[in-house]
Amino acid sequence: MFRKVLIANRGEIALRVINACRELGIRTVAIYSEADRNSLHVRFADEAICIGPPRAADSYLNVPAVISAAEIADVEAIHPGYGLLSENANFAEVCRASNIKFIGPPPEVTRLMGEKEKARQAMKKAKVPILPGSDGVLTTAEEALKWAEKVGYPVILKAKAGGGGRGMRIVRNGEDLPNLFHAAFTEAANAFGNGELYMEKYIEQPRHIEFQVLADEHGNVASLFERECSIQRRHQKIIEEAPSMQVTPKMREELGRMLCRCMTEIGYQNAGTVEFLMNADHDLYFIEMNTRIQVEHPVTEAITGVDMVKAQLRIAAGERLDAILPAKLEMRGHAIECRVNAEHPVKFTPSAGQITAFNVPGGNGVRVDTAMYAEGVIPPYYDSLIAKLITHGVSRAEAIAKMERALSQFIVRGIETTIPLHEAIFQDADFRAGRFDTGYVERFLAAAEAESSAA
Ligand code: ADP
Repeated sequence: MFRKVLIANRGEIALRVINACRELGIRTVAIYSEADRNSLHVRFADEAICIGPPRAADSYLNVPAVISAAEIADVEAIHPGYGLLSENANFAEVCRASNIKFIGPPPEVTRLMGEKEKARQAMKKAKVPILPGSDGVLTTAEEALKWAEKVGYPVILKAKAGGGGRGMRIVRNGEDLPNLFHAAFTEAANAFGNGELYMEKYIEQPRHIEFQVLADEHGNVASLFERECSIQRRHQKIIEEAPSMQVTPKMREELGRMLCRCMTEIGYQNAGTVEFLMNADHDLYFIEMNTRIQVEHPVTEAITGVDMVKAQLRIAAGERLDAILPAKLEMRGHAIECRVNAEHPVKFTPSAGQITAFNVPGGNGVRVDTAMYAEGVIPPYYDSLIAKLITHGVSRAEAIAKMERALSQFIVRGIETTIPLHEAIFQDADFRAGRFDTGYVERFLAAAEAESSAA
């Protein structure tokens, strides 16, 4: 096992990785920007190194600064968390060249899956179902028009380098296409420095369902079942659960087996998530793969009992899956996660600033992952996620009851959070009955607004 690991991240995930290292007897090195001087990940790591000014581009995304810190601290490995450098193949390559183990898949695999259009083709080759769409990137709106006619409207334009729901546009007819093409291109170019687009058939009211995989460095792969992530705002997840009520044991088994074969074929290593959309007929289609730990990994941990971050560290240290996983992987009960974001609960505008009160719920089957604390400050520079509240019960109904109780005891003052939105969603009959798709939050908010303006 590693002696010392650097955590190239901040916030709750940095603390999550520090905790896993601690429990494995690994020394930890935090890196931080000037804005994060008083953060918990800095306080709880064995060592901490300031790597630059607040803006992520000048600190957490500054590869030479991160590598210098790793060399000064003399670490053997870097855990990238999620976001930031976690899916940056160049960074993984620099780690390799500097003789530092990158905790994740090899850069070649990250690069393949990072180019969404190439990832689609790789999945297709492994017989994983993909949506009809363009073969390769679209260079002009005219080319996009041709493909749209072939695929059939509605279609969705997506950024090849996509992430976080940016650079996507739904196109319902040919007249709208040129404008939407340019809008998606510009948004993608601004967000990723690469505006290249591809096209897929748009599925109306799909569910977002994803499978968790773990692969060791000896060719063994395991599927840790699925998560249901359809509750999204602006194409970003806000509530996740495991298992999905829509996935039958047979589908889970078959898809799990198919994905394991596919991961072996592409030489996958470490933790990864394969994302699918489910149509009204319950068919699943691949949309993308995330080659890192996922924000919503705790719901999988709850139902499988597997510590995903420790598994990542042990895999990267060369251990075999059969030593890491229980002899028989089984699902126990139901788990739900609410993402608590520092933002307006309806408009979703960011809300940074000084926290004046902070009470975290606890009790049986309640977990909170956060790096926030009373009197903490939320800097305006980073992702708005400040805490994850996870509940685990014997049934979905029990996990919901625990969540309602826990949300009512989660107190954050001084800034706005999405807690009130979660409380409202958990009272909604459709959500409670499991009747939802990726358009749920938008419809829910529109209905709430219509109701309040009628009153
Ligand atoms: P990103 O990497 O930006 O998160 P994804 O490809 O994972 O993009 O898609 C994010 C979300 O966008 C999905 O969960 C879904 O809500 C919506 N979406 C993406 N592709 C389609 C599609 N072909 N049809 C319908 N909705 C889609």
